[in-house]
Amino acid sequence: MKKLVVFFFLLLSGSLMAQQKFALAIHGGAGTITRDRMTAEQEKEYKDKLEESLNAGYAVLEKGGSALDAVGAAIHVMEESPLFNAAKGAVFTHEGRNEMDASIMNGKDLNAGAVAGVRHIKSPIDAARAVMEKSDHVMLAGDGAEEFAETIGLEMVDTSYFYTDRRWKSLQNALKKEKVELDHDEKSTEKKSSSIYSVPEDYKFGTVGCVALDAEGNLAAGTSTGGMTNKRWKRIGDSPVIGAGTYANNATCAVSATGHGEYFIRSVVAYDISALMEYKGLSLRQAGDEVVMKKLVERGGDGGVISIDSEGNIHMPFNTKGMYRGYKKSTGEMKIAIYSED
Ligand code: ASP
Repeated sequence: MKKLVVFFFLLLSGSLMAQQKFALAIHGGAGTITRDRMTAEQEKEYKDKLEESLNAGYAVLEKGGSALDAVGAAIHVMEESPLFNAAKGAVFTHEGRNEMDASIMNGKDLNAGAVAGVRHIKSPIDAARAVMEKSDHVMLAGDGAEEFAETIGLEMVDTSYFYTDRRWKSLQNALKKEKVELDHDEKSTEKKSSSIYSVPEDYKFGTVGCVALDAEGNLAAGTSTGGMTNKRWKRIGDSPVIGAGTYANNATCAVSATGHGEYFIRSVVAYDISALMEYKGLSLRQAGDEVVMKKLVERGGDGGVISIDSEGNIHMPFNTKGMYRGYKKSTGEMKIAIYSED
């Protein structure tokens, strides 16, 4: 009898522990982020904000909340911080505007939502979720997306809300550099670069993202960005493109990317990681390394991803010098890191 009681106790606690397995990971952008370019204060500022974001998402999961809610909570913290290239702190376009993109995906039912090129929505990630849940569509863009957001009561703000001196200066530097390059091209007989997006060597991608696994075993992923400094012609990157910058499927994994969007779109990065797991049986780590450290490197695509599988394994590969990143698991493990050597 005593043995039977112990057996049932173990069974019960075992299943409770299994239920309690939840985790999340976040990123705040990849790029040329090296220790020698950061002061101790800057490093602390970033790490504190990453921790705040992780804790906000974790608090949702701890209370039994959904992976989708956790993704939203973690991303809100980074959207509201001027440190990252999303919502407040978004980079400027060539014309001096902030045009933001975001997307979210639910791994449980493969439902997804996205907005692109929005200028007045305070939280683009909330707008992406609203598109998923309150419209029949997956992606809305520009004025239409804003009209929809306003209709359903999302907070709208003046464009000045997104302004930061730091991003404005980055645009001025990019414009100056562009002018110098153009002047040089006129005088030179050398072949002109075929791309206006030839990313400077010291470029930092500041997009934010979160992937989460909740206590019910559901996965979700979300990404929010201002895109790339000096972007033009309503350019849209990978962040709002489901399968490129964001993907989630309970059967495989959840992925959020940051990097040179054009390459991530062409390589369908987030879905490729999921597909390698689904069709080739690769682990999360093998699939992420194959795509980010091999395929993207061969194709010249700078950046990285955060990813999580249905077991709560987390992998955060990147092929740049650094990536603001972190994770927190119900097992008690937590990590916040910036540089590749961390
Ligand atoms: N992936 C984003 C884009 O290309 C940029 C970033 O990650 O910061 O728009």
